[in-house]
Parts: sequence; structure tokens; C-alpha cells
Amino acid sequence: MPPENLKGETSRGEKLYEGKAKTLYKGPVPGTIIQYFKDDATAFNAQKKGTITGKGIINNKMTELVMKNLEHIGIPTHFLERLSDREQLVRKVEIVPLEVIVRNIVAGTMAKRLGIEEGTPLERPLIEFSLKDDSLGDPLIAEEHILSLDLADEAELAEIFDMTRQINDFLRGMFAGVGINLVDFKLEYGRLYDDDGEGYCLILADEFSPDNCRLWDMVTNEKLDKDRFRRDLGGEVDAYREVARRLGISLETAD
Ligand code: 5GP
Repeated sequence: MPPENLKGETSRGEKLYEGKAKTLYKGPVPGTIIQYFKDDATAFNAQKKGTITGKGIINNKMTELVMKNLEHIGIPTHFLERLSDREQLVRKVEIVPLEVIVRNIVAGTMAKRLGIEEGTPLERPLIEFSLKDDSLGDPLIAEEHILSLDLADEAELAEIFDMTRQINDFLRGMFAGVGINLVDFKLEYGRLYDDDGEGYCLILADEFSPDNCRLWDMVTNEKLDKDRFRRDLGGEVDAYREVARRLGISLETAD
């Protein structure tokens, strides 16, 4: 449990950044940040806006579970501790300006771009990269762009591939255990600098929730993720709650 003085929502410092689904505040200790998870939902580069009631609580708790599990298999992450229903304390990192997308089954923009039917399994998992830039709509880029534009160097890219494959192997198994196919997901990595600012290591950052992955029920193929909102399918609150229930995440609120 977090120390008493870090509980609730009073320990937040100055607001640093307001994103679409999260707000970042200065943490109580230098080198830390508080991620506050909102119920706001956006899609298609914020052209569609709405609310998924309770989503922030589920995404906060699911990110906690995933990050802790990944730490157990040796993946370094920015997660420190959950502070309240909607807040978690994380390490401050310099975000690598890439969206790392992993696909196990064809869906979404890949299905559209290449004219392949959604649901087609891939021979092997695919790792794609987008430039993290909302004003450009996060365009797909090649590894060569990353190196030529110096968005990351060769050693970092190799590490990103290695960690991402391990994360995918682990999470596919974790979701399969509760009857869910992990179709695809998006990761972000950050550079954690030493105190002297000289060296750094790469760690997993951001979040892992139904906002940034596709989850299909293994038996019915029912969508249990943000596509319910993006595609006006309805039932998004129930879908997020169902994923939490299967993963054993308690939705009892403490605040
Ligand atoms: P697609 O490229 O098919 O739209 O997305 C592939 C996967 O990455 C999906 O699971 C989707 O949720 C996630 N993803 C892609 N771009 C973003 C983004 O900008 N924000 C979030 N939260 N997830 C994204």
C-alpha cells in the first residue's frame, strides 16, 4: 500500500501536461510524475470525443497489473506505485518519440492499408513503428526513418525489438489464460537518465489498457476494447469491466 501521505489526490504537484486520456503532474519527489487517468475517450486523432464512465479507474488498475507482471519477468518499467483509483506514481523519463505497435492478428489500420480481412492471423508477430506526432496523425515509419532521423540509435532499436517481443509473448499468454486474444497493442518507451545526466537506460513507459490494445474474446470474437467506442458498437463500459473482471482486478473504489 502507498504511504498515507501519497494516498488520495492531494499529493499532485504542478500540472505538466494534459493528454487525451491522462493528465501528468509533478510527483512528490524529484524524478517522479503522477499519471492521472481520465474517463475521456478520443478516436481518429481526437476528431471523435466522448466519455467511457469508469475507464480511468480500470486503465489505472490494469496498467498497474501489467507493469508489475512485466517487472516480474525482467522488463524495466516506469511504474512505481498506484496512489489512488485514478493516479499512479511513475519515474520521469524522456519519451522516445515512437509508437511501437505489435500485431498478432490483422486489424485496424493494417487491415485497411493492405486490404487484408480483419481477423487474419499473422505468420509471426509484426512490430511496426509510428512517429509520435498528433499533428501528423502518428504516421507509419520504417526502421530506416528511425535511424536516419536519429529518433533512436541502433542499440536502442535492438533493445526495443527485444523487450517488445518478450512483452508480447508474456501478454499473449496472460490474456489467453482468461480467454482473450491479444490482437494488437501500442507501447511507448522512455529514456531514464542517471543522476549525473550522463548515461541512461530504456524502460517501458505510458500505459497498458483497452485504450491501446485490441482484445477479442477467444470464443465469440466479441471486441472488448476501445474499438467499441471508435466504431460506435456501444457497450464500451461493460467491455472494459469484463476485461478487468477476468483479470481479477477489483473495481471497488477507495477514494
Ligand atoms: P491501428 O494502427 O490499427 O489503429 O492500432 C494498432 C493498435 O495500436 C491498436 O491496439 C490501437 O489501440 C493502438 N494504437 C495505435 N495508435 C494509437 C494511439 O495514438 N493511441 C493509443 N492509445 N493507442 C494507439
